[in-house]
Amino acid sequence: MRFTIAHEIAHFILHRDESPDTIRDDQFYRALSNPLEAEANRLAAEILMPWHLVNELTSQGVTSLDELASRMQVSKQAMAIRLGIPYDQTWE
Ligand SMILES: [Zn+2]
Repeated sequence: MRFTIAHEIAHFILHRDESPDTIRDDQFYRALSNPLEAEANRLAAEILMPWHLVNELTSQGVTSLDELASRMQVSKQAMAIRLGIPYDQTWE
């Protein structure tokens, strides 16, 4: 939920001048083949999971996806996106 909100904020910041027809958030897996969606995901990840905080946690020994997601208050899916790990639906 927080990632979805951050994603929409990112669209507003980055793409508010684009035609509304260019951006269609009708799937949870926003098509990463669409560069605007990938860009919005990257900014959303930066808003919610800034690298300096992720790195601080990992340097404290927090390295599991579950724990990182919990500590950053995001879904496992959102954390997987941040870490560049392919998302597996069976995690939910
Ligand atoms: Zn989007």
